[in-house]
Amino acid sequence: MLKGKAAIVTGSTSGIGLGIATALAAQGCAIMMNGFGEPAAIEGLRARLAQEHGVGVAYSPADMAKPPQIRELVAATVREFGGVDILVNNAGIQHVARVVDFPEERWDAIIAINMSAAFHATKAVLPHMFRRKWGRIINIASAHGLVASAEKAAYVTAKHGIVGFTKVVAIETANEGVTCNAICPGWVLTPLVQKQIEVRAAAQGIAERQASDDLLREKQPMLNFTTPAQIGALAVFLCGDSASTITGAALSIDGGWVAQ
Ligand code: NAD
Repeated sequence: MLKGKAAIVTGSTSGIGLGIATALAAQGCAIMMNGFGEPAAIEGLRARLAQEHGVGVAYSPADMAKPPQIRELVAATVREFGGVDILVNNAGIQHVARVVDFPEERWDAIIAINMSAAFHATKAVLPHMFRRKWGRIINIASAHGLVASAEKAAYVTAKHGIVGFTKVVAIETANEGVTCNAICPGWVLTPLVQKQIEVRAAAQGIAERQASDDLLREKQPMLNFTTPAQIGALAVFLCGDSASTITGAALSIDGGWVAQ
């Protein structure tokens, strides 16, 4: 379905980003991977994705907190694949603390990586999408882009911001062949959430299994995790012809989290 197209997936060395990169590659899309990790492990992921799906897969170590590196990520993708058709703004971090204790440096980092990076990347890819009169921008927001939780001020602020940014880009690009949507997942069991489960288990002196069940029960009517592959499938749907008039939407995939 996506043969001949090229996608940038930020933060695709792990978790949801890797799930999306895999789903897009399975549709024949060339992939520019990005994110941190052990060089050998990243090269293993890159080579496996390319071999299993017979598509071009490149990797950029761009730090999404640094706008010049974001612009270079886009330039490198254009050099490698001749253009950028799909941009998935996915890279993200978390920090959990009450506002009175929240470290300023963590606030700045979360706003930069989870929110401002999407602006810099979108600004850099849009001219390429306009040229081809086709583009798909998918912002990985969160249930926390629609509702709040205590102790996640920076994350909730950034995710609400990205939902707003999604709507503006959708309006500005509505007649350019480009769509821009946000995906708002509930709990997905990735390293980002595993860390929160471990902290909770240690703080309360309970088993990780219990901490994981409690985490789900607190927020989601549905007591299981969404998988990165399910989010990848939603991203693929948004890239397809059936979704060509879906734009500016914040699509929940959250086990009923924001239905309450
Ligand atoms: P993860 O920790 O598994 O993956 C995060 C990815 O971002 C990694 O590849 C990491 O290397 C990369 N990254 C972090 N900082 C970066 C930087 N400065 N520059 C470039 N890459 C960077 O986390 P995840 O759960 O897969 O999260 C992915 C996205 O999904 C995030 O935006 C997160 O907020 C969002 N999300 C996650 C959940 C969940 O339950 N896991 C729910 C809703 C939304």
